[in-house]
Order: sequence, then C-alpha cells, then structure tokens
Amino acid sequence: MVTDPEVNEVGQIADEALGHMSVLGIPPTPENFAVWFAYANRSDRHLCRTIDILRDNGQEFDSIRNADLHARFIMPLYQSEEIETVADGLHAVAGQLSTTVADAGDGTRTYGRALSDISDALTRTESVDSEMHRLVGSLVHETRVMEARNTRLHGRLEKSAEEIARLRKSLVATRREASTDGLTGLANRMQFERELRSAAAKAMEHGTTLCLLMADIDHFKTFNDTYGHMVGDQVLRLVGRVLIEAIRPNDLAARFGGEEFVVILPDCCLDEATRIAERIRERIGEKHVVRRRSGDDLGTVTLSLGVTAYQPGESLGQFIERADSGLYDAKQAGRNRVSVVGEPSGRDAGGVRSVRGPAQ
Ligand code: GH3
Ligand code: MG
Ligand code: MG
Repeated sequence: MVTDPEVNEVGQIADEALGHMSVLGIPPTPENFAVWFAYANRSDRHLCRTIDILRDNGQEFDSIRNADLHARFIMPLYQSEEIETVADGLHAVAGQLSTTVADAGDGTRTYGRALSDISDALTRTESVDSEMHRLVGSLVHETRVMEARNTRLHGRLEKSAEEIARLRKSLVATRREASTDGLTGLANRMQFERELRSAAAKAMEHGTTLCLLMADIDHFKTFNDTYGHMVGDQVLRLVGRVLIEAIRPNDLAARFGGEEFVVILPDCCLDEATRIAERIRERIGEKHVVRRRSGDDLGTVTLSLGVTAYQPGESLGQFIERADSGLYDAKQAGRNRVSVVGEPSGRDAGGVRSVRGPAQ
C-alpha cells in the first residue's frame, strides 16, 4: 500500500533519500531517486525489507542492483491502472475549473460593461456630484483588473489541462512500451504474467474455462548458427505474426523469453485450445523463411507446443508448469507437434496426456 506524504513532509523525505544515496555512493539518477524516496517514505514494506537486508549484509548498491530494485519495486507502480485514473481525474478537474473561471470571466465582463454604461450616463448627468463619479470610476477600474486576472487564470488552467492530457498520453505510451517485447511487438513476460493472473481470477469468479498454450521453435540454435542471428530475429518476428493471426480477438500472445511463446486463451475448452495450437503449428510449417538481401529461400521452421487447461484454485506456477511439461512431451515425441496435458489425476501426477503430430 502506497501512502502519500503530506506536502510539507516531502522535502524531508527527499533529503533523507539523498542522504542514504550519498552515504552508499548511489548515483542520483531519477530511477535511483525514485527507489530511495520510496524507501525513505517507508511506503513499500517489501522494498524497505529488501533494502534493509541488503544493507545489513553489507551488499553493494552497484548499477545492476539499483536497476533491479527499480524494475522490481518502482516500474510496477508506473504500470498501475491507478495512475491513469488519477491523471484522468486531474484532467477533468482542471477542465472544469477552467470552464468555471471562463464563466466567471464572462460574468465579470458583463458586469464591467454595465458599470461602464452607468459611469458614462453619470458623466452626462450634471446633478451627480464628482464624488459619485470617482466612486463609480474606481468600481469600473477594479472590475477591469478582476477581469484581466480571470483571463490570466483561465489561460493558466487551460495550459494545465493541456499539460495533464500530454502527460497522460506519454504515460500510456510508456506503459505500452514497458509491456511490449521490442523484437516481436507481442506482450512481454511481465505483461503475460499480469494478464494470466487476471484471466485466472476471472475464470475462478465466473466459472469459465481458461487454457494456456506454450510454444518453442524447434532446433532454433542450429537455425541461428547456420543463418545468423539477424535471420533468427526475422523468424521470431514471423512466429509473432503467425500467432497474432491465428488466435482469437480476446486471446493474448506473448513472448515468454528467447524462442518461447505463450498464448492465454480465455473462455476456451481444451479441445478448442488444441485446435488453435494445431492451426498455429500448421501455419508456421507453411511459411518459408526468405533471406531479405538475396531472396534465398532458407526453408521452414517448426514449432512444438504444449496445451493445458486451468484447474480452478491452482497456482499460476502450476498452470504454467503443466503447459511447459506438455511442450517437453512434444519435444520428446519428435518435435513439430502439439501435446495436450489434461486434468492432473493426483498430486505430482502428470494427468492425461496426448501428443498429436503432423499428418503423415
Ligand atoms: P529445441 O528444439 O530443443 O528447442 O532446440 P533449440 O535449438 O531451439 O533450443 P536451445 O535452447 O538449444 O536454443 C535456443 C536458441 O534460441 C539459442 C539462442 O541463440 C536462440 N535465441 C534466443 N533468443 C534469441 C533472440 O532474441 N534472437 C535470436 N536470433 N536467437 C535467439
Ligand atoms: Mg527451441
Ligand atoms: Mg527454448
């Protein structure tokens, strides 16, 4: 739970954070400062405990350690949906204030005009004494000053609303970047885990089915060694595209790491998931990899896939492990095939398994 410090405390917390960083020789980058500000603010119990243990053990805070602390404890905060909601709220408030001030400005202007008219009328009326003229003149002046102030405030508020809208946009872009795999454009591992957690929670809540598919390129090391890393990267992008084209709109394909991919299949029974896995396997097998520069046909690559269904209540680790064991079976059975791991029949039991290979 993140607690917001009172505004007047912020300076003190920042000083404390910089103090720790200076003692430990940590460079004052924005990322490091974010970590140590959170530490000084005691806003994240896990972060504080981790840092305290590291310090007690005399561990160094080198660049790898600092980057790790930032990635583990600060990045997830930036990816929180809450930030966007707060930005939306701020934007709405600034917009409303701006409108209110603009309305008030209009009112003041109308009032100022009315006063001016009265002032003019009084000037033409000889019976009114000069003191009255002076008073009305002064009222007209004050109203003009107020009108100018309102106009300036309106301008500033409009600017703030624009700035908030710009920040929100860059926040959305940053989040998209942080959750996407740079090479394939698919979701990255972190995004996959987040989506899987949410898909499992939904399946539990609504009693719906959920399947997971795990795929790995066959003999990819040989492919890389033969044709080079750049062509290897081209294959990874190709697999990414085939996955996107083969899955349903609400499925999520992600790069799990290296040459391994995963697909989350919500509202999907094991039979349907197996059909999707087969479709992916077939489509990959049909695509020829062509060397861009020379146009040489480098042949095809194949995929091995494991598929399994979520058992309500099991941990995500168990779920992923089962899909991975299906993948292992597919490799063992000769690669370029789909292995389905059914419901586990007991503790440590592998469950019903079947491996389907390419049609001969
Ligand atoms: P298997 O059929 O058992 O999966 O064999 P494999 O050769 O595919 O598996 P192995 O784990 O031995 O090798 C995986 C290879 O994937 C090694 C590594 O060079 C390659 N690889 C991982 N990430 C990338 C990447 O981002 N780009 C490229 N080009 N290759 C990668
Ligand atoms: Mg492989
Ligand atoms: Mg692998």
